[in-house]
Amino acid sequence: MAKKKNTEEPVAKPAGGLFAYAPAPESPAAAGDIATSYGHFIGGEFVDSSGNEALKTVNPATEQVLAEFARGTEEDVDRAVAAARKAFADWSALPGSERAKYLFRIARIIQERSRELAVLESIDNGKPIRETRDVDLPLVAAHFFYYAGWADKLDYAGFGPNPKPLGVAGQVIPWNFPLLMLAWKIAPALATGNTVVLKPAETTPLTALRFAEICRQAGLPKGVVNIVTGDGRTGAALTAHPDVNKVAFTGSTPVGRAIAKQLAGTRKKLSLELGGKAANIVFDDAPIDQAVEGIVNGIFFNQGHVCCAGSRLLVQESIQDELLDALKRRMATLRVGDPLDKNTDIGAINSAEQLARITALTEAGEAEGAERWSPACELPGTGFWFKPTLFTGVSQAHRIAQEEIFGPVLSVLTFRTPAEAVEKANNTPYGLSAGIWTEKGSRILWMADRLRAGVVWANTFNKFDPASPFGGYKESGYGREGGRHGLEPYLNVEARDV
Ligand code: NAD
Ligand code: MG
Repeated sequence: MAKKKNTEEPVAKPAGGLFAYAPAPESPAAAGDIATSYGHFIGGEFVDSSGNEALKTVNPATEQVLAEFARGTEEDVDRAVAAARKAFADWSALPGSERAKYLFRIARIIQERSRELAVLESIDNGKPIRETRDVDLPLVAAHFFYYAGWADKLDYAGFGPNPKPLGVAGQVIPWNFPLLMLAWKIAPALATGNTVVLKPAETTPLTALRFAEICRQAGLPKGVVNIVTGDGRTGAALTAHPDVNKVAFTGSTPVGRAIAKQLAGTRKKLSLELGGKAANIVFDDAPIDQAVEGIVNGIFFNQGHVCCAGSRLLVQESIQDELLDALKRRMATLRVGDPLDKNTDIGAINSAEQLARITALTEAGEAEGAERWSPACELPGTGFWFKPTLFTGVSQAHRIAQEEIFGPVLSVLTFRTPAEAVEKANNTPYGLSAGIWTEKGSRILWMADRLRAGVVWANTFNKFDPASPFGGYKESGYGREGGRHGLEPYLNVEARDV
């Protein structure tokens, strides 16, 4: 057999060292019809707001307005809470096996309509279709399937026989995983026999409104799920409403704190899912290539708009150079751009405000003396974009090591011993998640015992499963979502009079 000649000629590479990928666009038309304006979903009907203030949601990749939607007033919230209260008596009296049927039906419809929902989510949020298609939507359906399974088994959930629902749940969610956060909130609430009023975030209301259609398609009794759109004022009206029994909030720590103050002294049960500043800790015996993938997934997944993002890399000093070289090579291959292109790794930043926040914090990083690096990459001319960014020479006191950036920005710190890694990892006001990369199982357990974080991943990162509880320590909030633990916030486990 003739041997191939070993030529010295370099392989021609496209600019930026990227493989040239042909565009692989998903069709925006798959999102289905987007109305020019939306009202609320109350008592099973789409209704107009009592006010006349409309907000606009844009596609952050193009800055084009997608739709107008109502800014919910106190009166709107009141109407929605009344509808939920009215529906509560019958819904909570249904046998769990009957409630489960509705949840299964919703889960199956989500699967059937997953392409439509994935495209709509990408358009409204800016996140890549690869993620909405392969991560968000499968998890949304899985969450409804999972809690459907619990609805008739609540007697065996560990909260005593026949645990009772609380009543009406007021739920406020953020823009980073709009439909997934809706699922995390609505599925356990319904499984346990509560009814809900949910307010989606002001930059991403469209998939929640589409979910309202799915509730109708599933024949869900009227008023069991109500969606009121609006901004922080609408959210505050909902959490303050005297006939709400349970408040569930995901978002920023300052707003979480304000809600906790607002609820102090009331009988409302509260769960808070707030920010994070997770450490992703890499030891010198870690498989470097695998760790690099985990670091990239940890901070660049969803543009870094992830409360449990691995935004601080703690690398053992002896492998710092090797790891950072490999990480930079990998970062240079990330494709930033059109969220609807199936090759895109990093989509658009969700809003102009969030882009300004990321820009301000990265500028503070430079001003405080950290060294900034980004791969060469061209950003689209319109829309909100930020290059994947790495900071080295970061000290623990720097703002970029302490504050949640909520963008594609990684701060690198080093350590020498496991004890130092634990100390640095815990040196933040937050405590949502952490990652450990090492070959030694005993070290993983030793570290996990000492890390003040609600979720600790070992040799992986950002893995989610509906069966696994998720939640924080310290300023990352309290209460758990997911798993058996995720039932508790919606049950009257203290047998109190609500
Ligand atoms: P935010 O906390 O202001 O908004 C989250 C949700 O709360 C939205 O639906 C909003 O309308 C509502 N809201 C705002 N003020 C409220 C109030 N007083 N009472 C009740 N509801 C209220 O978050 P943001 O402004 O969108 O983002 C700011 C920062 O928060 C981000 O930069 C990021 O650091 C963090 N954040 C964290 C998460 C998370 O998942 N933990 C999600 C989004 C944002
Ligand atoms: Mg939008």
